[in-house]
Amino acid sequence: MAQVIDGKAFAARVRGQVAEHVAGLKARGIVPGLAVVLVGEDPASNVYVTAKGKQTVEVGMASFEHRLPADTPEAELLALIDRLNADAAVHGILVQLPLPGHMDAAKVINALDPAKDVDGFHILNVGLLGTGQKAMVPCTPLGCLMMLRDHHGSLSGLNAVVLGRSNIVGKPMAQLLLAESCTVTVAHSRTKDLEEVCRRADILVAAVGRPEMVKGDWIKPGATVIDVGINRIERDGKMRLVGDVDFALASSVAGAITPVPGGVGPMTIACLLANTLTACCRANGLAEPEGLTP
Ligand code: NDP
Repeated sequence: MAQVIDGKAFAARVRGQVAEHVAGLKARGIVPGLAVVLVGEDPASNVYVTAKGKQTVEVGMASFEHRLPADTPEAELLALIDRLNADAAVHGILVQLPLPGHMDAAKVINALDPAKDVDGFHILNVGLLGTGQKAMVPCTPLGCLMMLRDHHGSLSGLNAVVLGRSNIVGKPMAQLLLAESCTVTVAHSRTKDLEEVCRRADILVAAVGRPEMVKGDWIKPGATVIDVGINRIERDGKMRLVGDVDFALASSVAGAITPVPGGVGPMTIACLLANTLTACCRANGLAEPEGLTP
């Protein structure tokens, strides 16, 4: 049976490290601050934003929440971003996606100061990551990388397959694995012989948004499987969260696997806090926290 990688415990450890660094900064009179902007009342976004604010405060950082009505004009949101960009108490800014349909998400994200773009979605950060330079790295792939490094030590030379090519998960994950000297294959909905491609992976990262799509016989015996998927399905009359990997089948073949829930999910907010800490250290000309950056 595969070793189950406990993302909940890992995330608690990361938050503990962040809190320790924050305490050190506070002793020098520096308080890292994270501003989260939510436009509209999307229930899932509301839950995320509340959780982010709570965890920000728990690690000792300052949390600034901005909740705007769904019909806020784009210019008003851009003006708020300008103010947050200029605010020295704010080291990280996160604009919760998706934005209402009348807003241009790319324009809004690219209005952020790249140094404060703790989601790592600004075009400059995307370019920096793609060219192997110091960037703000998207939180979910950063969390996956931390777990992989913890499990394997060096990833150099391993065959990695990333299933999914989104800008939020698949593409940055592939860039990070390439930077670790993995041999990286990015698979997607047009990939031929998908199962065969997956079977070559020493590391398989699944980010497709298809409940339990990856079966046991898609996995190389002993491989490490990182399941990013969060899918809500009904089973036995109850709503359940499942990943993109069939956990029961995969865990009898894989060497290690992340569960859903309790795997990648908790790492995402922990990495948001880590990125805010990194941004604060950079803004103050201090050394970056070890182990919390790529
Ligand atoms: P997207 O929908 O943006 O991208 C999905 C990718 O999967 C696309 O590249 C698509 O290919 C590919 N794909 C879809 N169906 C298939 C298929 N049948 N075979 C092969 N490839 C397929 O999703 P995201 O990347 O945003 O999210 C992926 C999953 O991760 C979701 O379940 C999401 O909820 C979860 N997630 C979890 C997070 C966390 O914190 N744990 C954070 C972010 C996302 P193509 O490009 O060809 O269409």
